[in-house]
Amino acid sequence: MIYFDNSATTQILPEVLDTYMKTSQRFIGNPSSLHRLGEQAGLLLQKSREQLAALLDVAPSEIFFTSGATEGNNWVIKGTAAAKRPFGNHIIISSIEHPSVSETVNQLAEQGFDVTRVPVDATGHVQPEDLQPLIREETILVSVMAVNNEVGSVQPIRAISECLAAYPNIHFHVDSVQAVGKVPVTDWLTDRVDFATFSAHKFHGPKGTGFVFWRQGRKIAPLLAGGGQENNQRSGTENVAGIVSMAKAFRLALTDSEQKTAHIRAVKDYLMASLASFDKVRIFSEHSDTSAPHILCFGLKGIRGEVLVHAFEQKEIYLSTTSACSSKKKVKSSTLLAMGVPESERTTGVRLSLDETNTLMEAEQFMIVFKQLYQQFSQINS
Ligand code: PMP
Repeated sequence: MIYFDNSATTQILPEVLDTYMKTSQRFIGNPSSLHRLGEQAGLLLQKSREQLAALLDVAPSEIFFTSGATEGNNWVIKGTAAAKRPFGNHIIISSIEHPSVSETVNQLAEQGFDVTRVPVDATGHVQPEDLQPLIREETILVSVMAVNNEVGSVQPIRAISECLAAYPNIHFHVDSVQAVGKVPVTDWLTDRVDFATFSAHKFHGPKGTGFVFWRQGRKIAPLLAGGGQENNQRSGTENVAGIVSMAKAFRLALTDSEQKTAHIRAVKDYLMASLASFDKVRIFSEHSDTSAPHILCFGLKGIRGEVLVHAFEQKEIYLSTTSACSSKKKVKSSTLLAMGVPESERTTGVRLSLDETNTLMEAEQFMIVFKQLYQQFSQINS
């Protein structure tokens, strides 16, 4: 089996799973319980919070646990909208955000919020000079992802932060899901970022666990009301084993990340150069430092992305159409649309997403199968 779908989800690491199991078995208490078992579970949560905070160089009180990035993105956006409504109703997002951001602002638009989408260029990057003129007195939130999940474009978060420095009342949210371990933290968690959202299963942690970095002093409304967990901001019994193992996975993801990304980029470069040598292939991801090392999006002229995905599946090679989240909804890629890719090519998009466990040999095997499929499809189309 070759697994090239790591942006959809990653396999949990054995040592992370071990932590999950041991924590589940040994720490059975509810962190809110008054007795010793509750206290022990609560201390573990605090330790995980401190570990995550130290890795991000932020305060432990700025880390809030969630069930994942969909919840985190909904919380930051809806929470900002609710808390800041008296000051304004204008929200800016990039035109290539994940549906957990774009669909959330669509809901808010139905409630009377005014949403502006900042365009991207042909390589899928927001230009800060395009963002600046869109800012108004009523703007309450700007949301731009760190790394696009469909084509891998790395957004200029530092430059956008500089642009937003003059507007301290606007919340700046960065969906950081695809950046962990792939782009240095310092590139996207700038002093101007108020909120950053994360999902553990994208960095070899367990599914159903995530966290939000929430800068002290910013105000958002709680998303979930209830027992008052997470400092009264996110109610619900904490997923203790998930959180403890997420903290471990996050530490491992950031360990030796330069070495790991150099390896991933070498595999991606090989795939990119090999695919580009075929006449009917169009590469949608950029070949540069402003493209994440692990995501490569391409299309084969005249062949729908899902056809290629299923053809590779027959050979036990696992890929996605442009994003796993929207593939079952049969929506065409919003990122390719925003990049100005013509309609006929948008349906062809296929995404390879790599991680450090993938090898050059797997990439070579992928290319052998690709060559066979290319010949088959060329015969059908000729
Ligand atoms: N944002 C981005 C950029 C993503 O790639 C994903 C996962 N596809 C999410 C948010 C949502 O993460 P989850 O499904 O784990 O909630």
